[in-house]
Amino acid sequence: HEGEDELLERNNKWSFFFHLCFYICIILGFALRPYNLSLREIKYFSFPGELLMRMLKMLVLPLIVSSLITGISSLDSKASGKMGLHAVVYYMVTTLIAVFIGIVIVVIIQPGKGNRDSPVANGGNIEPVQATDAFLDLIRNMFPPNLVEACFKQKTTVRIDLCVKRFQPQETVEEVVPVSGSSSGVNALGLVVFSMCFGLVIGNMKQQGQALREFFDCLNEAIMRLVAIIIWYAPVGILFLIAGKIVEMKDLAEVGSQLGMYTVSVIVGLLIHGLFVLPMLYFLVTRKNPYSFIGGLLQALITALGTSSSSATLPITFRCLEENNHVDKRVTRFVLPVGATINMDGTALYEAVAAIFIAQVNGMELNFGQILTISITATAASIGAAGIPQAGLVTMVIVLTSVGLPTEDITLIIAVDWFLDRLRTTTNVLGDSLGAGIVEHLSRKELQNQDAEVRNSVIEEN
Ligand code: ASP
Repeated sequence: HEGEDELLERNNKWSFFFHLCFYICIILGFALRPYNLSLREIKYFSFPGELLMRMLKMLVLPLIVSSLITGISSLDSKASGKMGLHAVVYYMVTTLIAVFIGIVIVVIIQPGKGNRDSPVANGGNIEPVQATDAFLDLIRNMFPPNLVEACFKQKTTVRIDLCVKRFQPQETVEEVVPVSGSSSGVNALGLVVFSMCFGLVIGNMKQQGQALREFFDCLNEAIMRLVAIIIWYAPVGILFLIAGKIVEMKDLAEVGSQLGMYTVSVIVGLLIHGLFVLPMLYFLVTRKNPYSFIGGLLQALITALGTSSSSATLPITFRCLEENNHVDKRVTRFVLPVGATINMDGTALYEAVAAIFIAQVNGMELNFGQILTISITATAASIGAAGIPQAGLVTMVIVLTSVGLPTEDITLIIAVDWFLDRLRTTTNVLGDSLGAGIVEHLSRKELQNQDAEVRNSVIEEN
């Protein structure tokens, strides 16, 4: 009990500190705006935030690998099979619902109707990206030929990178390049697949696998302790990340009316999905109050807003789910790394809205078949997008080419993407977290059985 009280007190202090920093950052950001700081000055100002991003990214790789391996190997094959199935069904259903909401909203609001705001970018001779190639690439990435390379190299279709790099306006170059560059890229999908298989195998190896299981268990525990240290710095880093962005952002009044309506469409879609659909689903399955569950996730949601990266938010998401919401560790360690890599409801919704918006701007009427194609490719593109800033913008080329829309029109939406990226990342993290709660509820029988088995074997040993 004493341990629990201590934990609670520490957690309360951290939550207080987090909220304090969040309010300070908003005030600081708006207070500095009138001073028109230069880009260089803003960069210096955001430096503590940049450090946080680097620390979080540093943790992501060992966290994903060790959590997945320990999570899966600690479950018997029946429990992990059931849990995996529940998670995948939840991911697919919620992503498709998100795409559906996006399509309905963009068709109702019609943000792209009328004459286009901005001139068409001159595309040059870009070869169109074949959707089939992009799909094959997605599957290829699941099986990295070289594990070491997978740890530092994100393999995406090169031509997708080229398209986006070529068409982005100058000021966003720095933001978009890391998505396709190898410096920040980790082939998370490949590592997730490998870690899941590895965890399953060592979980079934009985006595022989004991040493490896203990090793990864210990590694996971050590990483979690590192997380517990870095987490105290997180509120400060996020303060500077958000404040820096508030200082830097252009006046929203400068955004044209079409783009403004497009932004509104995405926001309305994300709000409906995040605040009504997902909580309703959680309530229907668990019969518990979804909003108090979401209350426990606030720090993770703010981190997602500050970092635009569901992978970088992962350490905080773990913390919120395990310590604030008391979700079973066997569930979080299994489903969270997978969710952060493949379950991106916000990204899928945004991709569908953006593709149809671009069709409307070009005066192109989409038939039912094309809308269906957009739904499927938007889902696939969200699975393929890495959990890093603006990855969705890159994979959107797949959606556009699948229905013959001009990829150069991505330039039309780039101006507001930094903002929408933060919102969709927050939705992504929310979806992963509510998913963990739902999977825990659906798998409670298997978890209880396993607990009983462990208890029995301890009694037998004694
Ligand atoms: N930034 C998003 C994430 O990390 C991915 C995206 O660009 O949509 O979840």
